[in-house]
Amino acid sequence: MISSLSGLTLLRLLVIVTGVGGSLAFLLFGLASWRERERRAVWVSLVLAALFPLPHLAAGLLRFPRQPVVAALLLVIAGLALLVLGIPLGRPALEDDTPRSRVDERDIMFARWRLVPGSPEYDDYYARRPEKKQGDDRIRAAPGLLAPGSRMYHPFAFRAADASFAVIDGMRAAVDGPVAAEQVPAVPTEMTRMIKGLARHYGAWSVGVTDLRDYHVYTHVGRGAGRYGEPIELDHDCAIAFVVEMDHQMVRRAPAAPAAMETSKQYLAAAAVALQLATFIRSLGYSARAHIDGDYQVICPLVARDAGLGEIGRMGLLMTPHLGPRVRIGVVTTSLPLSPDPPKREPAVVDFCRRCVKCAENCPSCSIPFDDRQLIDGVLRWRIDCETCFLYWNTIGTDCGRCMAVCPYSHPHTPFHGLVRWATRRSAPARWLALQLDDLFYGRRPKALDGPSWLQGP
Ligand code: SF4
Ligand code: SF4
Repeated sequence: MISSLSGLTLLRLLVIVTGVGGSLAFLLFGLASWRERERRAVWVSLVLAALFPLPHLAAGLLRFPRQPVVAALLLVIAGLALLVLGIPLGRPALEDDTPRSRVDERDIMFARWRLVPGSPEYDDYYARRPEKKQGDDRIRAAPGLLAPGSRMYHPFAFRAADASFAVIDGMRAAVDGPVAAEQVPAVPTEMTRMIKGLARHYGAWSVGVTDLRDYHVYTHVGRGAGRYGEPIELDHDCAIAFVVEMDHQMVRRAPAAPAAMETSKQYLAAAAVALQLATFIRSLGYSARAHIDGDYQVICPLVARDAGLGEIGRMGLLMTPHLGPRVRIGVVTTSLPLSPDPPKREPAVVDFCRRCVKCAENCPSCSIPFDDRQLIDGVLRWRIDCETCFLYWNTIGTDCGRCMAVCPYSHPHTPFHGLVRWATRRSAPARWLALQLDDLFYGRRPKALDGPSWLQGP
């Protein structure tokens, strides 16, 4: 009798602790959301903090028929929720999504957009690709990126973004350079450790090393100043890829002008890291080339993926495990002997994208596919409609970024979001649950943040 009474007391105590603990967790999450300026998440957290403990407290404190059963049921539900988070379940298969061929940089939207009507490059390109001409001319006729007359025009933010791009322009001369005559002996493992540390010291969030592969390298120059159409032959063996973080609050203002400021700022930050790394490596007596905004010879997201920094998601961007797509990538290719990172693929990220489609639902130009990855030019991938996306950019004047702003992976790297990411990597039910919770706390169509107030101007 005594022991059964103790068991009942313990059951009551446990259910009360669960209720109070859950309520505290929601309150803490509400506080974190307030710091993130996610108003809806704050309100939802407060409501849940108030509602969650009610049945637990009732089952722990009140007397009613079948009260122990109800208390046990509440504990089982809480236990199951923890199991969903913790147990590895439903690991998705890794599919072969290795590209089989190289890409011509002249075909990418940024290169086509810069073609000047009447120039030899323009005539040559559209003689080879007549099907692209009409759509591209339409894009060129739009107001343009960071241009007055565009829909999101902001006199200060656009100039600020331009200022960052102007600084990058000035950095392009240093992407390559003379190599020191004397070569410092390099032990690959030790050198890799130092290079990674140095990249972080310069400002990288994460860094990886991969063998440089054929499909990483563009076939022809599409943007590098004065060398349009030249074949690209990089004789480097290794590529160092890294990412820099984009500020969450600025990104959450997308597609308004502050998001474009953040893009240009982080392109500049990535360029600074890449140039310093490349210059350092050349001083050791090894060739190195920095690949920076407007002067890439490699396809950065593929290099970064093969260096173990993430996966390519539905919106066609690199999805990193901790910051999602909220990054800019930098790459340095080199002849310095380095130890490539072992393959580190994250099929759970692809599986999450398969279920989510939030970016596709929020894309204002309907450029992101809703269906599963397709074999496109022999590669299993999602392909966004670059033409409609870029036309939208040139109409509003910013690089939009709405897809990045609403992505559940873009939340800040905090203990709460980190826990969710950890669970989604391990378990398919957790991926399902994370999506439901993301919709509940942030909405299926999250509102863009206002501000910042310091950008109002005089
Ligand atoms: S919004 Fe969803 S589908 Fe789109 S990239 Fe992010 S996780 Fe993938
Ligand atoms: S940047 Fe904007 S327009 Fe382009 S795919 Fe993303 S949401 Fe769509």
